[in-house]
Amino acid sequence: MLTLPQNLPPTRKLYWQDPYRRSFTARILHRLEDAGRIGVILNRTCFYPTGGGQPHDLGTLSGVQVLDVTSDEAGHIIHWLEAPLPDEADEAHGEILWSRRYDFMQQHSGQHLLSAAFQEVLYRPTIGFHLSESSVTIDLPGPPPDEKSVNRVLDFVQKAIAEARPITARLYPLDEAVRLPLRKAPTVAGPIRVVTIDGLDWSACGGTHVRNTAEIGHVVITKLERRGDQTRVTFLAGGRAFQDHLARLNVTNALMSRLSTNMDDLPAAVERLQAQVKESLRSVRQAKELLTRAEAQRLIAEAPHTGGVDVVYHILDSDELWDMETLLKTLISFPSVVAMLGTFRDGRARWIAGRSQNVPLDMLDSLTELKSAFGVQGGGTVDVIQGVAPDFDTMQKALHLLQAFAFDLPTLISDME
Ligand SMILES: [Zn+2]
Repeated sequence: MLTLPQNLPPTRKLYWQDPYRRSFTARILHRLEDAGRIGVILNRTCFYPTGGGQPHDLGTLSGVQVLDVTSDEAGHIIHWLEAPLPDEADEAHGEILWSRRYDFMQQHSGQHLLSAAFQEVLYRPTIGFHLSESSVTIDLPGPPPDEKSVNRVLDFVQKAIAEARPITARLYPLDEAVRLPLRKAPTVAGPIRVVTIDGLDWSACGGTHVRNTAEIGHVVITKLERRGDQTRVTFLAGGRAFQDHLARLNVTNALMSRLSTNMDDLPAAVERLQAQVKESLRSVRQAKELLTRAEAQRLIAEAPHTGGVDVVYHILDSDELWDMETLLKTLISFPSVVAMLGTFRDGRARWIAGRSQNVPLDMLDSLTELKSAFGVQGGGTVDVIQGVAPDFDTMQKALHLLQAFAFDLPTLISDME
């Protein structure tokens, strides 16, 4: 908590008197430092402090960057600066970053209008509001409304924008304020600042607003999200809505020219494309299965045959169509096969080995031997084991040992008998 001098008067809010004012001169009343931050309090300011859902202004005080603007309960507005103001100065000249402020004014007025529209058209009050440099949202009770209802809300908004209804702000004593059709009951005792959209909306609000609804320009809803038993509405107003429109135009134009179609047919064109891709992938998968099977048969035919078992040993090239796991699965789907496969890609030696159901070899036993003999790593089941080796040579040696186990199988079988 900051402690300020007792007699420090509250800061006069020039942004309330005239939200379009961009520069001002003011007396320096107090300088402070808090946790390494440099603050200054003036007798009056155009800088809006973070509050009521609206972010603070940026700009300069006598050429020094204003990094943050906060306020306290007593109405002091503190400008947090990048560097201290000159010691001898008793006045400061402020300039607010107008593009940022005007954007916030358009979004904030857009929010009041959109909230009024949801209330008037769908009887949904606004229970949350968030405005940042990148997004504006309001929260409504209940699930997301359907497209038709949303369009009715937007029609209401668009009509109000075309009517250029004045937006004004005034302080009311509490007893007068409670007689206004306010959206929400006031929570403060003192005079209540009410922002009015002529004939449409009365909201208790400390924010900065455009002078009439025409300056909101346009409101578009970009997202409706269910959040528990509420709906979050993401929207854009003014310049943001225009920029969004241009961005979407660029994207749709690019897609239309790529797919040689017009905007109305774009969804159908994309659907056709997706269906084609799906069909192609299915064909490729089938072809791959057939090829893998043919490769497995070739490897089995060429493999040494010992004690009724085909012992397949194969190192995969980098350009082989099938992956090692699929090839192994295909190999051991044939009876009487023991197979060991390896690859060496991107400096990594990986191997996999397995046997057909009818071959009495416990692959996990083999793995234990490989681990102690060569320091390879791996895991698996009694049918299939796989892992990595420190290098290609070690992998080859390990696979050759597995091969030897397979060649010994007749002994294993006779041992078991
Ligand atoms: Zn407001």
